Amino acid sequence: MYSKCMLCPRECKVNRANGEIGFCGASDKMEIGRASLHHWEEPSISGTNGSGTVFFAHCTLGCVYCQNRSISCRHSKSVFVDENKLSEIFLDLQQKNAHNINLVTAVHYTPSVCKAIDLAKQKGLYIPVLLNCGGYEKTETIKLFDKKIDIYLPDFKYYSGYYAEKYSNAVDYLEVCEKAIDEMVKQTGKPIFNKDGILQKGTVIRHLMLPNMLSDTKQVLRRIAENWGDNVLVSLMRQYTPFDMQNFPELNRKITDYEYNEGVEYFEMLGLSGYRQEGEAATESFIPEFNGEGIK
Ligand code: SF4
Repeated sequence: MYSKCMLCPRECKVNRANGEIGFCGASDKMEIGRASLHHWEEPSISGTNGSGTVFFAHCTLGCVYCQNRSISCRHSKSVFVDENKLSEIFLDLQQKNAHNINLVTAVHYTPSVCKAIDLAKQKGLYIPVLLNCGGYEKTETIKLFDKKIDIYLPDFKYYSGYYAEKYSNAVDYLEVCEKAIDEMVKQTGKPIFNKDGILQKGTVIRHLMLPNMLSDTKQVLRRIAENWGDNVLVSLMRQYTPFDMQNFPELNRKITDYEYNEGVEYFEMLGLSGYRQEGEAATESFIPEFNGEGIK
């Protein structure tokens, strides 16, 4: 799959096994910026012990406002790991009492990640495995994760192709995202929790609100309600933090209380279930340091 890469909708067809690099900037060797217990996910994912989060380098979307840009960008450099090492990292996180393994932006490494999950399960991994992704995934690629992933955590970023093109260079985002989430929901079914309220199976759709885009947020929420209703949980996020936004001045501020409260009111009016963030959530403390923690 790496030798003529079509893993994501960019379909670069480059030979990553031979040193060629596509839109995402990733080679065929997995790179990881951090593997640690993370306490800032939704309550049913972080729980009390934390989510065993593994942050992969590079990304197929390249959003101009990316909150993890130091690791996601095309030229970022992180720690190389093979499938065996990655499976050991999963087991180490389980040993530290993580509630789950949380794979952040891993889809451009799908073949290697699938192999690592299989290896880890053979070696005793039993906690749920969660795929945390941008929503810009091919259905064919999501099918490769069937029976390996217990929980999907996709973004649903945009309704409008105008914004999707302007901020993520992905004019077809809506169509791609809806098909991908259809496949995810088909695989997981409705959310299932354990007795402590920790999610064991299901799909949680995240929407990060952006400044001046309240009407797009409402359209996204409406589509979620129409497409999947109570088969999914929805997380309405207000933690957007602007960095270097001089080329996009309309994004150079945090979300206002008015914008967020309007989003929440619409969320409730649609009868969606899930999570919202209380008070002033926009802080850089949500963004971890990508310093190789938990990898060496
Ligand atoms: S995963 Fe990377 S190289 Fe492969 S199609 Fe997507 S952007 Fe291109």
